[in-house]
Amino acid sequence: MKARTFSFRRVTSVEEALAAFASCEGEARFLAGGQSLLPALNLRLDAPDLLIDISRVEGMRGVSVSSSGLRIGALTRHVEVLRSPLVAEHASLLSRAAPFVAHPAIRNLGTIGGSLALADPAAEFPTCILALNASLEIAGANGIRTVRADDYFRALYETDIGPGELLTAILIPPPSHGQRVHFDELARRRGDYAIVGLAVNAVIHDSNVKEIRLAFSSVGPIPTRAKTAEAQLIGTFLGAEGIASAQAALANDLSPDGTDEVSSETRMHLARVLLGRSLNALLREDK
Ligand SMILES: Cc1cc2nc3c(=O)[nH]c(=O)nc-3n(C[C@H](O)[C@H](O)[C@H](O)COP(=O)(O)OP(=O)(O)OC[C@H]3O[C@@H](n4cnc5c(N)ncnc54)[C@H](O)[C@@H]3O)c2cc1C
Repeated sequence: MKARTFSFRRVTSVEEALAAFASCEGEARFLAGGQSLLPALNLRLDAPDLLIDISRVEGMRGVSVSSSGLRIGALTRHVEVLRSPLVAEHASLLSRAAPFVAHPAIRNLGTIGGSLALADPAAEFPTCILALNASLEIAGANGIRTVRADDYFRALYETDIGPGELLTAILIPPPSHGQRVHFDELARRRGDYAIVGLAVNAVIHDSNVKEIRLAFSSVGPIPTRAKTAEAQLIGTFLGAEGIASAQAALANDLSPDGTDEVSSETRMHLARVLLGRSLNALLREDK
């Protein structure tokens, strides 16, 4: 199938992008890497009147660091996240998750902002920004605002980005002393969307858990924190007993739907397996 006919406009600044969207009388969409939007157009799952190509917008690409943390431009491509020494040093959870995102050809074009704007519940980066307690910078008619990742994901494929607003950057707080991170997922084949994924961001000293954020993918309509399991772990010694208690606590946090391919029980079982593996990996790293 081919996409329905649409108008196309390339813009080079945030202001121009916002103005182009506002002046469209029909439906407009921003085009970043095109790795989700273009397949959707070709399959006629979406049929906007205007595509606004933002891929050359100044100031929305690249990674920088300051005393308030890491800033990743929304147009930074998955491959750039994967290879960035600054990301590896200041937000290594993203470097660890990036190889799980699709395949090299898609990672060469897809952008982190596109992934977060789409907010597929099975995607890797949404869980990472939730675990990292990141904020999202959003530009709109009233200027620039930031929203915490905890408040950003609203419903299936629905985020805090309003119509005509542009996600411009992801802001990640500096890593704490003793920070340990881990990313893992279970998928049928490497590069597939996960059956279950888990991003962990913890502060651990001598196997004692001071802080922890656990963010799961593919267990509901939005990336989901396991807050009961987090509370169970904080202040405890990370050993076999603590890990088993956290796995049991997941029953309070997650209630994944079943599909024809994966039952709810299997998904829940895999979430527990993933949590056990990830916590054991953190434990090994702490020694
Ligand atoms: C075969 C295949 C396998 C894939 N596997 C995975 C996978 O395993 N994991 C994974 O995470 N992803 C996967 N993807 C999706 C891929 O990572 C996309 O690159 C990503 O989801 C979207 O990024 P993009 O830059 O291509 O966005 P686009 O396709 O250009 O846009 C996606 C949506 O986001 C909006 N948008 C884009 N940027 C912005 C912005 N800055 N502000 C506001 N709105 C914006 C667009 O209007 C559109 O609605 C896969 C894709 C394919 C085709």
